[in-house]
Amino acid sequence: MSNDDKSPIKASKFGSCCQDLKEVLEAEDFDPLVYEAEDGVLYLSVGILDIDDGSESGESAASGDDDDEAEGSGFLDHPVYFCPFCGAKLQTPEQVEAKAHDA
Ligand SMILES: [Zn+2]
Repeated sequence: MSNDDKSPIKASKFGSCCQDLKEVLEAEDFDPLVYEAEDGVLYLSVGILDIDDGSESGESAASGDDDDEAEGSGFLDHPVYFCPFCGAKLQTPEQVEAKAHDA
């Protein structure tokens, strides 16, 4: 379609495959779990990490000043290769690896 493939990538190049992905990426009312990182890789949050060290009873307090809301959990992200909505090919593992290393 385009006769100039050297055109700079404007904003998010993801979301051009279907309206669903576009809406998620441009969402302002919520924090999307599919997002484009600073390195230009599209990531999908596949789960929530529980980084708790197993001190469930709280008998061993490593430090008395811990914020148990900020710590203890995190999102586990994974690069998205195909659009979860329409199945369009968005990026390849090679592209993701190149971007991740080039960032
Ligand atoms: Zn799509």
